[in-house]
Amino acid sequence: MALVLYNTLTRRKEPFSPLNPPYVGMYVCGPTVYGDPHLGHARAAVVFDVLYRYLTFQGYKVRYVRNITDVGHLEGDADEGEDKILKKARLEKIEPIEVAQRYTALYHKAMDALNVRRPSIEPTATGHIPQQIAMVQRILERGYAYVVNGSVYLDVELYRQDFPYGVLSGRQVEELIAGSRELEGQAEKRHPWDFALWKRAEPTHLMQWDSPWGRGYPGWHIECSAMSTHYLGVPFDIHGGGLDLIFPHHEAEIAQAHACYGEAAHHQARFWIHNNLVTIDGQKMSKSLGNFITIEEVFSGNHPKLSRGYPPMALRFLILQAHYRSTLDFSEEALRAAYRAYLRLMNAYRRLLQVRPHSYATYSIGAWKEKVFAALDDDLNTAAALALFFEQTDDILRLYRNEIYLSPEDLDSLKRIWQEVLFDILGLTPIHQVEWERWERVVNLLIHLRRQARSERNFALADFLRDELQRLGVRLLDFPEETLWELAE
Ligand code: ZN
Repeated sequence: MALVLYNTLTRRKEPFSPLNPPYVGMYVCGPTVYGDPHLGHARAAVVFDVLYRYLTFQGYKVRYVRNITDVGHLEGDADEGEDKILKKARLEKIEPIEVAQRYTALYHKAMDALNVRRPSIEPTATGHIPQQIAMVQRILERGYAYVVNGSVYLDVELYRQDFPYGVLSGRQVEELIAGSRELEGQAEKRHPWDFALWKRAEPTHLMQWDSPWGRGYPGWHIECSAMSTHYLGVPFDIHGGGLDLIFPHHEAEIAQAHACYGEAAHHQARFWIHNNLVTIDGQKMSKSLGNFITIEEVFSGNHPKLSRGYPPMALRFLILQAHYRSTLDFSEEALRAAYRAYLRLMNAYRRLLQVRPHSYATYSIGAWKEKVFAALDDDLNTAAALALFFEQTDDILRLYRNEIYLSPEDLDSLKRIWQEVLFDILGLTPIHQVEWERWERVVNLLIHLRRQARSERNFALADFLRDELQRLGVRLLDFPEETLWELAE
């Protein structure tokens, strides 16, 4: 078994091995906490949760750091516009820290529902101002930055004389020049593509700190360089985030790390891993297009694009069914199909737990286990791994009905892999035994009444019971000698 991951930095799949085994340092850019967590947040969190879980499963000691951005993320990506959190605070007439704490709490609530494990460390930008100032200072001392009017900028031209700039995104500075607009507040930069490490604050600015350059606040990119290297050293193993962060955010992080630590920083992280984005009915998700969907809206169904609410596992399953480097197109139809697929696996799992082994096996799982792990090892192909589980559901029904037999060893192995892969690694939540039992009692009663209706040739009543059960999410499977049931969508 060897895990291979696609490295955005080298643009190829590479075998993963930690710099300092058995320890793995992983940093993922977390949310800017100024609004309700949405589908984009769900996808990034689930993708890196699976990586975290898989590395842990393989025996690595993973230190997983995912930050909370609570200052410095401006509306424009190029040091322009209002701080997103300050704007929200102004609009709602509350303190910036209230904004940050409210949306951090909502983020945690949504992620807990999706069964996303909390990271080992969840640092906030405002909690690490001294580390950020120290890093800016060191970059200044090494000559890669300059101070203007109390703001500090990284000098991309000077940096470029010693290190390549644009390695992650593949962008050339020439392209950046062509693409840079004349923006307010850009005049003090030597070059429009320089970026802020520290910004001077107006006296009325609500979030500001003392620094060697006067009162101000950190640039958005410096927090991630400062916090990742503070907790993980430099270079560390894995840096993750959404595809939209590659430029300018991650490109800037790499430049800051080199400017601060020199060649030894080695692009700050060994592997740069990016998840693709969520589209809605084929379109980019955005507030202006009216197709912006929050996680809570998926759960409640309170959105024009949804006819009803869906349980968290439907959304988690939908995310797992796409490869993390492909776009994920969200629609109610896709969500419903994902929920159906999730239930299909849970029905099969419940049956599997009731299968009895046989000394005369007529069925063998063969190399199935190896195939499942080969899929996960191949750049975390969760979609391919799930497909292998679907292939087995019909056989599990046959095992359950004693049409085929499995040896004790194969049965143990099968149960273990279902458990480990679906629940421990992919992070699905099983349907609780108590819930199954409650269904069991009610459904068995109705199956009994239906059988009675049939024996009295009251087929209208028998069909009515079957259809009503189907409407309530229970499908009946009729066999000559028995009727089975399963949860359905
Ligand atoms: Zn970041």
